[in-house]
Parts: sequence; structure tokens; C-alpha cells
Amino acid sequence: MIGGGIAGAAAAYFAAQAGHRVTLLDAGAGRSSDVPAALLNPVRGQSGKVEPQALAGLRCTWALIAELQAAGQRIPHGQTGVLRPVPDEKTQRKWAAALPAELPHIWREPAGLPPGWQSVLELPEGGWVSGAAFVRALKQASGARLVRGKAARIWASGVALESGEVLEAERVIFCGGSLGAKFSHQNGGEHGSHFEGATHRAGSLLLLSQAPQQPLSFGAYLSPAAVGGVLGATFETPAASHAAALAGGLPLNSLAWVLQKGAALRDLSGVQVTGRWTGVRLSPLRSEPDAAGVYHLSGLGSKGFLLGPLLARELVRELSS
Ligand SMILES: Cc1cc2nc3c(=O)[nH]c(=O)nc-3n(C[C@H](O)[C@H](O)[C@H](O)COP(=O)(O)OP(=O)(O)OC[C@H]3O[C@@H](n4cnc5c(N)ncnc54)[C@H](O)[C@@H]3O)c2cc1C
Repeated sequence: MIGGGIAGAAAAYFAAQAGHRVTLLDAGAGRSSDVPAALLNPVRGQSGKVEPQALAGLRCTWALIAELQAAGQRIPHGQTGVLRPVPDEKTQRKWAAALPAELPHIWREPAGLPPGWQSVLELPEGGWVSGAAFVRALKQASGARLVRGKAARIWASGVALESGEVLEAERVIFCGGSLGAKFSHQNGGEHGSHFEGATHRAGSLLLLSQAPQQPLSFGAYLSPAAVGGVLGATFETPAASHAAALAGGLPLNSLAWVLQKGAALRDLSGVQVTGRWTGVRLSPLRSEPDAAGVYHLSGLGSKGFLLGPLLARELVRELSS
């Protein structure tokens, strides 16, 4: 397994459960899965789109967290539901039309929110999780051999590290996220075109001294975290590479935008900023082998924690059958 974010760590865990001996190689940098609080939110962005596998993904992730906790791992999370305020009737109608009947949801009055909202969609099966703790728990519980290093060359049955060391395996699964996206091009062969339009998008979370009990999201999200809370989103202009996406840091304009979105969700007076976390997410989704026989699971976009574990489980099942 190359890449130790949510995709690689979940794949390592499921592969070990299926009886495989797993080595997980990770460069130990640029991991968007270290996000301090990731929402598990099946109703996406401002479009209200619901992915076909959203409910299955949600349930897979919660079940995995429960399993890891039962095995003694500590993963800060809250299965609290998620609140999605909508600004007007038109948006409400659009979202309502996209909601599958099987996805539990409740439309509520926007009581307790700052003025300006039409109503609130509550998604009782949503919540939040500490990305870093979840990934750490998966790696530990997998029992995988952990190797720190950067892959310089990858083929169907092995990888050469920048250090010159070579690791061999029956199968190689590449889960390199934004930092590793160049391998999706190099090894892409005829599938390379899938990644020509790959976009790297940076975003930042402000770490806050306190947060609401339930996450709220429209534009930006406000969520509890292991300590205090977070306010942020992935909002920077898409870039062509991981480095280019990070180069902008956190522009003042973005900060102003995030604060405005946060204030629309909740009265933030008295709340202090205790830090900042910045990461880069990659899209579009890629879950398939390339022409060289290397399997890829990356491009999870803003759905890494909603769909990552489910897709990792499906990939491992497919490869084990
Ligand atoms: C601000 C922000 C907020 C977000 N909020 C949410 C949210 O609320 N809910 C949600 O579901 N998702 C959210 N996401 C998206 C989520 O973080 C990503 O979808 C997910 O973390 C991607 O996981 P991954 O395993 O594919 O990649 P990553 O976590 O980036 O992991 C890739 C790993 O591969 C390693 N790697 C790369 N190249 C090599 C190489 N050559 N050799 C060895 N190792 C290599 C890297 O070091 C890294 O550790 C957010 C992202 C950001 C930036």
C-alpha cells in the first residue's frame, strides 16, 4: 500500500483483515487526511447532491470507527447528526428533490441560527471525526509493516523508494492523494487521460476554542473537534499541482470569506482562534488499475471520510476474490 491517508490506511486495514500481509509505505507529508475534524455529511456542498453510495459509505465509516474503538483505539468523533441550513425556498426545493427516500432526514425551522435562513436540513446519521486519529488507529489496528519513505518508481509488483530501496509485493495499491498525483499521470498509460483534469484544491480550517455540539455546514463548516472546534472549508482556486495549491497559504481574502460564512452559521463572539490547519484535496475520483497493473484509489475530493473506507473495502474484496 503506498500512501497512508484514509484511503491507504483503510485499504491496509481491510487487506490485513482479509488475511494479506501488508506493507504500508508513506512519505509522511502532505496528508489531507490529517484534517482535525472531517464531516460525515451525505448531502454535498451547496448543490445538495447525494452520491449514490453516500448512505452505505456513512454506515461503513461509522461501523469501522465502532470496531476500532471496541478494539481499544481512541478516535475522537461525534455521531451527532449534521445540520445543513438552506438560504431560500428554491434551494430547499432543489435539495428536497435530490434526497433519496432511504436517507434519514428532517426539515426543521432555523431556530437558534443567525437570521437569514429559510430552514435547516438535519441529517441524523451524519457527524464528525478526527481524521488524524482515525488514520492512526487504522494503521495500528492493521498490523501492517509501516515504512517511511517516498516512492520514486512504481510497477505492478513493486516500488523503488527515493533512497534506492526496493519493496516487492504481490500487488501494489497506490493511494497517494494530492501529493502523489503525479504517479497517476506517469503510470496512467491509456487511463492517464482520466487524470488530465485532476485538480488540487487547498483549504484551511481555523482551530477554535469552542464549537457547537452539532456540526453546521453551508459554504464553510463549523464542527466540534477533539479539542474545541473548527471553522473552514476547501475554498481556494483549483491548481494543477499539490505545490501550486499550497503556495497561496491562507490569503486574507479567504480568511474574510471563512469568517463571514462562519458568522452566518453561528454567533462567534467570544470564540478564539487557537491555530490553523491547511491541506489539499484531489479530484476526480479514481478507483481502478492502470495500464501497468498498479491499482489506484485516490481523488476522493471532499468525501474522503464519507466514501474512502467503503471504496477501500470494495477494492480489497475485488482483489481478494
Ligand atoms: C480543508 C479540508 C477540509 C476537508 N474536510 C473534509 C470533510 O469534512 N469530510 C471529508 O470526508 N473529507 C474532507 N476533506 C477531504 C479529505 O481530507 C480527503 O478526501 C482525504 O483525506 C484524502 O485521503 P487520501 O488517503 O486519498 O489522501 P491523503 O490523506 O492526502 O494521503 C496521501 C498519502 O500518500 C502519501 N504519498 C504521496 N505520494 C507518495 C509517494 N510517492 N510515496 C509514498 N507516499 C506518498 C502522502 O504522504 C500522504 O500521506 C477535507 C480536505 C481539506 C483540505
